[in-house]
Amino acid sequence: MSHSSALYRPSILELARAGNLRAIAYWMNSLLGPHGLVIRIQPTRSGRLHFLVDFTQSRSREHPLRLQKQLVRFICYRLWTLNSESIRDVRIVARIAGNSTPLWQQSVRIITPANRRTRRQSRAHLLTQQTASWFWFQVLRSLVISRLAVAGFFLCYWMLHWELTHNRAINQPTAAVSPAAIASADLAQSSNKAQLRAAMQDSSQALLTVPESFQGQVVREAQSIGSEKLVALTFDDGPWTETTEQVLDILRQNNIKATFYWVGLQVQKNPDIARKVVAQGHAIGNHTWRHVLENVDELTAAEEINNTAKLIYDTTGLRTSLFRPPGGNLKGSLASFAQQQKYAVTLWSVESDDYYVSAPIIVDNVLSAVQPGSIVLMHDGGGDRRATVQALPQVISTLQRRGYKFVTVPQLLAAQAQSSITAQIKP
Ligand SMILES: [Zn+2]
Repeated sequence: MSHSSALYRPSILELARAGNLRAIAYWMNSLLGPHGLVIRIQPTRSGRLHFLVDFTQSRSREHPLRLQKQLVRFICYRLWTLNSESIRDVRIVARIAGNSTPLWQQSVRIITPANRRTRRQSRAHLLTQQTASWFWFQVLRSLVISRLAVAGFFLCYWMLHWELTHNRAINQPTAAVSPAAIASADLAQSSNKAQLRAAMQDSSQALLTVPESFQGQVVREAQSIGSEKLVALTFDDGPWTETTEQVLDILRQNNIKATFYWVGLQVQKNPDIARKVVAQGHAIGNHTWRHVLENVDELTAAEEINNTAKLIYDTTGLRTSLFRPPGGNLKGSLASFAQQQKYAVTLWSVESDDYYVSAPIIVDNVLSAVQPGSIVLMHDGGGDRRATVQALPQVISTLQRRGYKFVTVPQLLAAQAQSSITAQIKP
């Protein structure tokens, strides 16, 4: 006698995740029904889901029109959180109940980790089925494209050349370079490189110095920083293509400074992104050359840390006094070598788990754990970090609403050093 299978009943969300249309409709209606909306879902032959949204208590024709953006975003966000393999393309059609002409309609592609995987598999499957003629067509097509690319390259080269010579003529006497100018300046322009480096060094080196009391110490968070609610966001494993710059944009829009822990190999691959991070005033830490998680001997530890430090200096003109061992590993020689070298070994107190969970969970992980003085671990590199980028705006806005001020790790440590001095002076 087995009761276990009879006792198990999947939840509405589980059914929805499996692509059960009735479950998705039931779930959506439970969320939107109170707002005077009724949803029906029809499958189509193309595999796309057809959402029919009826406004049941609409006061005017404009009301549903105004809600389009909000409603589309709401539905798509909810579907995205399901992380379903079978939900991919969605068409949303809005009507006033009883009226068959649509008010508006919109198609959206929902890209989740789950359906991205299945799409990749089906694409690979398709490729193996291609015929020989298809193959030759592709070869021919790529030949044509490569010709165009070569022509385009020469055109771009000529334009760049023209631009550089032209600009130099106009901007000949460039005096002091302000940090704002660095941010906007073309960092690849070699004639200005030395100047930029000097300016970066002046404006940013001060931001990277750690109070003496923290040199050679292991730090997880700051304590006793008075009444101020400070928090330090940190981003590891970059500089990375796309996501690092997306993170930078979000930070810049919110006027926030953060700390980036770099992997030497990535700095080597993306020097321009590295310079952009520094130009925007963020703090930098050393995160080894190869992101070594295992315990290494002292010689390797020295190589890993020193080579990274040298490359950071050669790329940005900065020397960092922050080190973070990959995986927070304090047992091997990495941490002890860094301590000998007077680095502040800066770990974290809040883990976002952003390298394997989706954006809503990242938001929740951070917001439920942050306290004044927290150091938050996130990742802008090391893999697909779109979830981190998606979560970041909400993390920032909620913490700001709670009265938090964002600082870099050196600023956080300086604040703690300052407040402990104040505490000592007080009778
Ligand atoms: Zn790491």
